Amino acid sequence: MDAEDWIPTSWRMKKAAQTVEYPDQDHLSNVLNKIKSLPPLVTPSEIERLRHQLSLVQRNEAFLLHAGDCAESFEACTQQNISAKVGLILSFSLILIWGARLPVVRIGRIAGQYAKPRSSVTEKVGDREVMIFRGDNVNGFNPDERTPDPERLLSAYFHSTATLNHIRGLLTSGFGSLHHPRDWSLSHVRSKSLKAEYEVISEGLADALDFTKTIGLGSGREAQSYERGGGRSVLGEADLYTSHEGLLLDYEEAMTRKYPIPDSIVSRELGTPAPEKYYNTSAHFLWVGDRTRQLNGAHVEYFRGIRNPIGIKIGPSMAAEELVTLLDVVNPGRDSGRITLITRYGAEKIDSHLASHIKAVQASGHPVIWVCDPMHGNTLISSTGLKTRHFGTIISELTSCLRIHSECGSRLGGVSLEFTGELNEEGYSVTECLGGSMELSEEQLGLRYQSFCDPRLNFEQSFDVAFLISNHFKN
Ligand code: PEP
Ligand code: MN
Repeated sequence: MDAEDWIPTSWRMKKAAQTVEYPDQDHLSNVLNKIKSLPPLVTPSEIERLRHQLSLVQRNEAFLLHAGDCAESFEACTQQNISAKVGLILSFSLILIWGARLPVVRIGRIAGQYAKPRSSVTEKVGDREVMIFRGDNVNGFNPDERTPDPERLLSAYFHSTATLNHIRGLLTSGFGSLHHPRDWSLSHVRSKSLKAEYEVISEGLADALDFTKTIGLGSGREAQSYERGGGRSVLGEADLYTSHEGLLLDYEEAMTRKYPIPDSIVSRELGTPAPEKYYNTSAHFLWVGDRTRQLNGAHVEYFRGIRNPIGIKIGPSMAAEELVTLLDVVNPGRDSGRITLITRYGAEKIDSHLASHIKAVQASGHPVIWVCDPMHGNTLISSTGLKTRHFGTIISELTSCLRIHSECGSRLGGVSLEFTGELNEEGYSVTECLGGSMELSEEQLGLRYQSFCDPRLNFEQSFDVAFLISNHFKN
């Protein structure tokens, strides 16, 4: 990585999938120059800390939760929405910690997840053919605002900043304290049995933390090993890292900066300079999507050069040999914690692909984290024309994934989910995915369908998934 032959603009020599055609190139350059001059959103120390924590996930010493919206919107950047998202990620992770008895590394699809890869270039709205909506950082959802506008990149930077600032504020003001997890908006869970199950866990955890504190543990060697890489080291305080799909390479390039690797990571002799690396400072973790991971494409070229830990989405169209070649390109040094493979085949296809992918990676000796995304291979259109996913199919892909990993002598290191803690004005959760313990039916989908992109699990359905994984690891 950080190959000698790589610079942040190297990708420009390659063909990029999902390109955006801006009508005014000078306007785009001016905006990108402005973004280049703005401060970083995240720091090399934080990125290195995540790399270290992901290396623990890879060694089965922690579990990864990657979750959030399919796409954020500028309009949804409010105190309530951000707090609800963070609250759901924290509660979900708590259920996992309790069952798996492992630390959970939390990465939100948050503070920058605006751009969307699309299957077509245009769409029909009424009797007009208009450019497809590509996310708030490119064009507007309103059919009259579909011309790509570079100002939206700048707006994305500032909305990411506002989101991240609120997350940091929440987490440093006690909201992330595992000592009183009931503050994470549990009142919204309507199911009495889910609520009761969660209360047992949160009270148990608070007791355990109090006991640990009473007998003087909590800042010992284990806590420090988990926290290595700088930053605070407080047992009982939650961390949350940010991520988005690295789709718009103009923006990613503008946020890529060269810094010395922090001293806490590399030991060096007095007087010798620390080696410098390129960090993408727009998020801690970035992933390359299933539509942009071409071996000779611009996205893979960009991703191979950054020091951040990266995710790669893998679907049924990935050949096993291609996967290994891709790993050679993006992780030639075989660094632990650098690569997370996010599999998303669909419940019907996972049996014919996952095992061969696992075996090829095992034979290659590449260190990777395997994460299950049971959402993206299971999207369907309801009889009423809404994009949806069935809870049962999501669970089916997840359980197949757990089974196949154990049959192959491998282990699932995490999950990647699209969920939301968002509520409407009367306090009801969204109705975007079918089924779950609340048995959401096709007729109910239209009640509170709020996603403008992929359908998300709501609060109750997310808890159902959390308990399922937690129970799997407990048994
Ligand atoms: C996504 O994660 O929202 C997405 C578009 O995924 P994929 O690239 O796997 O289709
Ligand atoms: Mn999605």
